[in-house]
Amino acid sequence: QEQKKVLELNIQNFELSGAHLDEKTKERLQEINIRKSELSNDFSQNVLDATSAYEYIITDERDVEGIPQSDLLDAKFEENGVTKYRFTLQMPSYIAYMTYGKNEKIREELYRAYVTRAPQNEQIIDELLALKNEMSRLLGFPSYAAYSLASKMAKDEKSVINFLEKLLINSKEQAHAEIKELQEMAHKPLCSFDTAYYSELLKKEKYDIDEELYRVYFEQMSVLNGMFDFLNKLFGITFKKTDEKLWDEKAFSYDLYMEDKLKARLYLDLEARKSKQGGAWMNNFQTHCIDEKGNKQLASAVIVCNFPPSSENNPSLLRHDDVVTLFHEMGHALHHMLSSVDENEVSGVNGVEWDAVEFPSQLLENFAYEPHVLKLFATHYETKEIIPDEMIEKLVRSKNFLSASGMLRQLEFSIFDFKLHTELYQGDEVQNLL
Ligand SMILES: [Zn+2]
Repeated sequence: QEQKKVLELNIQNFELSGAHLDEKTKERLQEINIRKSELSNDFSQNVLDATSAYEYIITDERDVEGIPQSDLLDAKFEENGVTKYRFTLQMPSYIAYMTYGKNEKIREELYRAYVTRAPQNEQIIDELLALKNEMSRLLGFPSYAAYSLASKMAKDEKSVINFLEKLLINSKEQAHAEIKELQEMAHKPLCSFDTAYYSELLKKEKYDIDEELYRVYFEQMSVLNGMFDFLNKLFGITFKKTDEKLWDEKAFSYDLYMEDKLKARLYLDLEARKSKQGGAWMNNFQTHCIDEKGNKQLASAVIVCNFPPSSENNPSLLRHDDVVTLFHEMGHALHHMLSSVDENEVSGVNGVEWDAVEFPSQLLENFAYEPHVLKLFATHYETKEIIPDEMIEKLVRSKNFLSASGMLRQLEFSIFDFKLHTELYQGDEVQNLL
């Protein structure tokens, strides 16, 4: 069965890479592929450069009122005997001001800087869209969307749009109610740079939840070890730290054992730092398989996050959102590392349709709200007190807070992205599609 799937995938790959086409078309496809990867690299590099180049310096203490102590410590510096605060577009710093920063002008300034990073990417986007469209047509598909669906579970373009629209219709009413509530909280027309700030205020009022009070219970290493404990209970796997030296002193690795046998290696690079790409993801390094010579290869995976950086006097204290993210990425990593399939192409996350690959990660996420699981690691980093039941209850109750508007946000991304690839759109046409 494994081999049958490999065969099917290989045939599909041959077709999707144009192996059946004439030499001239193949040459053009190769040119397109090279150019596409150059452009993608330039795109990411431009975003990274623009993110690192920006900073906003605050000198008035009143403008940092309400910002959590741990974020302030990261932002604070002295210049000519004056205390100043530096906010950047790097994730923990940007989020801190957008969520807690009282000064609306500064929020707007930061927001505009964030959403207009690397304007030169506009041309790259146009060229990429044109190349993807040309490539799909050469391969016999009407659009890039159709080409992309050939290797996914979703049947056709119509079923994707129908699915997304159905979710949209079902989320709309609740999302409207949520936005109305936020609007009432703000006493003014709500702008994009206000939502995080007023959401936080509303959350405090409605659920009596102060995100900040939770962070002392979510010290990074304690969360990580607690998650390992939990995974041990659930799957009988154990993690042992290695002393391997890695690319950064904050990165480390663990060996994963199953029934006392070495099964895989997990790499973790969890803290934000300058010039590191934002966001969180899992990558597979090696895949569990038997190679041509009959040798067994073990799997390895890396989890990359952008959690608040730790320093000697300031531990990395996570938000509950970060804890959920860690569980999510761990779900991906386990999906990959626990595979016992022998064929490289279909082992772990390899060969899994993209519209199915989020299942293990979303499954594991749910446990980050489970009281029994939380109690394994949510201990105060100084007093070692376990998180009180009352705080867990509040967390669970607030789980669906603003979830319909969150859903709409994701749907907007998806529908826009999908429609953008159903025809060739260039320049203003892209904006107009929004
Ligand atoms: Zn994921």
